[in-house]
Amino acid sequence: MNTSIMQNALGVSQQACQNLRYEGNNLVLEIQTPKEKLCCPVCGSHNINRNGSHIRRFVSVPIGLSKTYIDMRVQRIQCHDCGCITSSMYRPFCSIYKICK
Ligand SMILES: [Zn+2]
Repeated sequence: MNTSIMQNALGVSQQACQNLRYEGNNLVLEIQTPKEKLCCPVCGSHNINRNGSHIRRFVSVPIGLSKTYIDMRVQRIQCHDCGCITSSMYRPFCSIYKICK
């Protein structure tokens, strides 16, 4: 999906759409933060190691008549500067959408 449409229609920015698929009548967007934009959410450092990931599902606004979900690949991050181990969850994104699984 075009990044401009994702940003203006769905409020999703700084994410790359990896896939767009149907689950029955429901539309599912698979997104993730591009590697070059990953940083430590605590100190902002890019001096990080990626250490696994998992998928979080968010309920989005419908597109047409289809219920729409956003599956976000959340990267686990280990920061070499501040030492934290945390997820790369994009905070503004989480305040817009409700996590459903
Ligand atoms: Zn850090």
